[in-house]
Amino acid sequence: MLGVVRVETVVVGPLSTNAYVICNNDSCVVVDPGDEAWKIMRVLRGRRVLAVIATHLHFDHVGAVRDIVELTGAPFMVHRLDWELRDKYAELAMSWGFKAPALPEPTFVDEGFTAPLGLRIMHTPGHSPGSISIIGDGFVLTGDTLFSGSVGRTDLPGGDDEALIASICRLYRELPRDFVVYPGHGPPTTIGEEAENNPVVPQDLCY
Ligand SMILES: [Zn+2]
Ligand SMILES: [Zn+2]
Repeated sequence: MLGVVRVETVVVGPLSTNAYVICNNDSCVVVDPGDEAWKIMRVLRGRRVLAVIATHLHFDHVGAVRDIVELTGAPFMVHRLDWELRDKYAELAMSWGFKAPALPEPTFVDEGFTAPLGLRIMHTPGHSPGSISIIGDGFVLTGDTLFSGSVGRTDLPGGDDEALIASICRLYRELPRDFVVYPGHGPPTTIGEEAENNPVVPQDLCY
């Protein structure tokens, strides 16, 4: 039995990244621990961590991965296509004056993989080649692919406009309207709200 799964948001780091702690009564999955491991550990309240997943490998989403993995012993999961760009993304962090994150060896995840707590992985490239969305019961974590009223930038290494639009259209097409969208930055929204009103990629662009 998975029990009721709840999503808690922890805003971390200089770019106000949303780290997410998804838990049932005794176990959790941590998504995008970008910084400030202590803030995330506090929300865990002693529950077991089954996995640490990065929606993509930009430094603002993975800065505290190593700390959380060392403190909990959980496996680190990321898409292989972003892992292959890890040196480029480390350079990018340093060029913006941030520290390159030290990362533990990952387990690769891809389209169709089911992570602990029944979380399903959808490959949603565009913001980065290995960007993933993480789908639960009634919600989806979209990383920097889809935001409330906006979409992810595509001008960083491996970014691709057409892929981003296709990924967002897939989210609109395959997920129910009332699904809550928890993005990598900013407030939550819903699939229906973005499909109808997103000013950059509305659903009209999809067909
Ligand atoms: Zn990003
Ligand atoms: Zn980000």
